Amino acid sequence: MPHRAIYSPSSITGARVCYVRFVARIEILMSADSPIAESYSSVTELLARRRPVQPVYCIYPGVYESTAREFVDAFPGRVLYAVKANDHPAIIKLLHQGGVRHFDCASVHEIETVMQACSDPTCYFMVPTRLRGAARQAQREFGVRHFMIDHLSGLQPLAEEVDLSSSVVFARMAVHHSAALQDLSSKFGALPEKIPELLLAITKTGAEAALAFNVGSSVTSPDAYSHAIEVAAGVLRDSKLRVRLVDIGGGFPKSYPGFSVPQLTEYFDAIDLARKKLPMTDNGEILAEPGRALAAPGMSAVVEVLLRKEQRLYLNDGMYGIFWELRFKGHNRYAFRCYRDGAELSGPLQPFQLNGPTCDGTDVLPAEIELPQQIRCGDYIEFGRIGAYSLSGRTNFNGHYSDNIVTITGTDQNPPS
Ligand SMILES: *Cc1c(COP(=O)(O)O)cnc(C)c1O
Repeated sequence: MPHRAIYSPSSITGARVCYVRFVARIEILMSADSPIAESYSSVTELLARRRPVQPVYCIYPGVYESTAREFVDAFPGRVLYAVKANDHPAIIKLLHQGGVRHFDCASVHEIETVMQACSDPTCYFMVPTRLRGAARQAQREFGVRHFMIDHLSGLQPLAEEVDLSSSVVFARMAVHHSAALQDLSSKFGALPEKIPELLLAITKTGAEAALAFNVGSSVTSPDAYSHAIEVAAGVLRDSKLRVRLVDIGGGFPKSYPGFSVPQLTEYFDAIDLARKKLPMTDNGEILAEPGRALAAPGMSAVVEVLLRKEQRLYLNDGMYGIFWELRFKGHNRYAFRCYRDGAELSGPLQPFQLNGPTCDGTDVLPAEIELPQQIRCGDYIEFGRIGAYSLSGRTNFNGHYSDNIVTITGTDQNPPS
């Protein structure tokens, strides 16, 4: 521990005490029925009672439920939550309570997490890369019936592990569009012209063949979906093949400060219109795999200012922790609120550079943000809409890792947005 104090200017006092608490908390998490150990009516109550040394990640249950409800009610098809966006059991449970019944999983671990978090979910194994034996285990232990391939060579290993006659196998097609900030077709997906032979090969095994693609992540225009659906329609029309299920993937964006995107309903309208051109069987259905759109809004991160050097703040969380997604192209900051002595802090603003606590020189948030001029060491900042690609990617680099996850139960409480 003394090393940390010498080498890291933003050392966290009481780290050893926290470690003991952290271990204790893991035990609470493992033993309790509810995956969350603590709840507070508001963040101000949390700060007043705990004055937390470690970052605290706050789940707003009502926001998760209503976000799920709105998506499920408005989307013209079946909604699968992409578990990788945030696999915390409490969040899976809340989304389920909000009406999400289907889950897009990419590993047995994700499937197990979903099965334990809620009753009677349907899990889909939607990735062409599975560990050896994983498809077998998914089907035998959890009744999984939906799988994915993106190359002919993927069919035989699947056939060896599962009963294909009772399965649906999606052929994943690559689609590209400039409105997708992260391309999800560079790694997976067969070229459109390869899709007919994949669908035929799947059908031959006795499985039901279906079609899937993924436009990208943080897709900034509904056109990207219309375009991909038109490509899919062309492939099906030319090959005279019909499918019952077409999975259009995730990518539905959320707005962040400086990054505003169209309303979800604009996406749904475009999808609803485009899908009419899809040659599907009579009971045809569109599937979507939203991750970010469901995971982002309901969680915040409460972090402490450890050090102020003029316009630079050093926080107890950073790019190796809850903010790791900011290293990718997309939005570059989150909405926030500041607190001092348990009350909200306001006043004239000025730009600050935000640094994480580790010794690494790249542990700096990509964009400056405007915070109250008077902000200082010991104040807290709550960052909102942080639920997507945050918890699941945090590391324990340099010994910084927080597992303080709480719920904020006051019905009038909302994360900064
Ligand atoms: C990551 C991913 C998603 C979710 O993407 P979002 O941009 O979070 O909606 C959906 N499907 C697949 C196959 C993915 O890899």
